[in-house]
Amino acid sequence: MHKIELPRKVIVGEGAIYEIKNVCNELNLKSPLIFSGNFTKKFADIVCSEVGGKVVSVDNELNEINAEINKNLNFGFVCGVGGGSTIDKAKIYAFNNKLPFISIPTAASHDGIASPYASIGGGVSVKTNSPLAVIADTTIISNAPKNLTASGFGDAVSNFTAVLDWKLARDEKKEYFGDYAASLSNMSAEIVLQNSDKIFSDISILVEALISSSVAMAIAGSSRPSSGSEHLFSHALDMLSEKYKFKQALHGEQCGVGTIISSYLHEIYSHKNKEGWKKIRGALKDVGAPVNAKELGIDEKYVIEALKFAPKVRNRYTIFNKFNLERDAEKILKECKVIE
Ligand SMILES: [Zn+2]
Repeated sequence: MHKIELPRKVIVGEGAIYEIKNVCNELNLKSPLIFSGNFTKKFADIVCSEVGGKVVSVDNELNEINAEINKNLNFGFVCGVGGGSTIDKAKIYAFNNKLPFISIPTAASHDGIASPYASIGGGVSVKTNSPLAVIADTTIISNAPKNLTASGFGDAVSNFTAVLDWKLARDEKKEYFGDYAASLSNMSAEIVLQNSDKIFSDISILVEALISSSVAMAIAGSSRPSSGSEHLFSHALDMLSEKYKFKQALHGEQCGVGTIISSYLHEIYSHKNKEGWKKIRGALKDVGAPVNAKELGIDEKYVIEALKFAPKVRNRYTIFNKFNLERDAEKILKECKVIE
């Protein structure tokens, strides 16, 4: 049986945050527990002034958050107002407490803004519910730091290789493959790639691509359409950063570099379209996203180790399974200019 659960309402536009009251009325939601980060508290306060509820900071210690929550256990829904990690924490809280969730992203930094998946750190994602509503205020999002937008761009283009990996798993391992979800995901990547010069002047292009990418995952019932080998590489970097105590880059930045590597490998494996990886690299450069270890701010030795380790991150069949990365990681990374 294949169950699909999608957001009921998606609102994208200037000043969209003020639609929260209408959304709550239409969905019959009252009394939100509002998660925000310290930099995004002013937006959480707007939500609170419109519909009431209580704002808690995800930057506080967990017991402080719980103390705030315990003062009032009658929350009707959960709102996440902030960047990727705020949205993820709110989504997980909502899921664990069986409460509806509204996603109000303040940056277009990754495709978790509307997806039924949340990162819990250290390269691990968990399945949750899709948000009941997504409110993406383009005035707020277009004022987010540029590196967050560039990161979102990296996460969107990563759909190219995620879909190629998914096809490979269908062809070689008879894995379930959803044509519609795959096409939707691929189209999101195609649209942002074609409009890389407009990403900062018209943020709605990227926001809509990230939402479509989330919806593709909800339709597929797995993260396959938007998470392939390039994500394994990013997860491997996250894991190694905990082990060796170096600072990881943003999720979408790491996935963008992973997409360069994975598209390069797909092109070698399929013996066709030998220039695609360069096009992706050029587009990432255009939006100011990192394209190599140096720009990620990560030592080359960790990037090499991450590529060797990536196939072991989780049991997901990808292009990495077609290469001897233990032996060739360094050579491959040099060939696609990720290391010098
Ligand atoms: Zn991602």
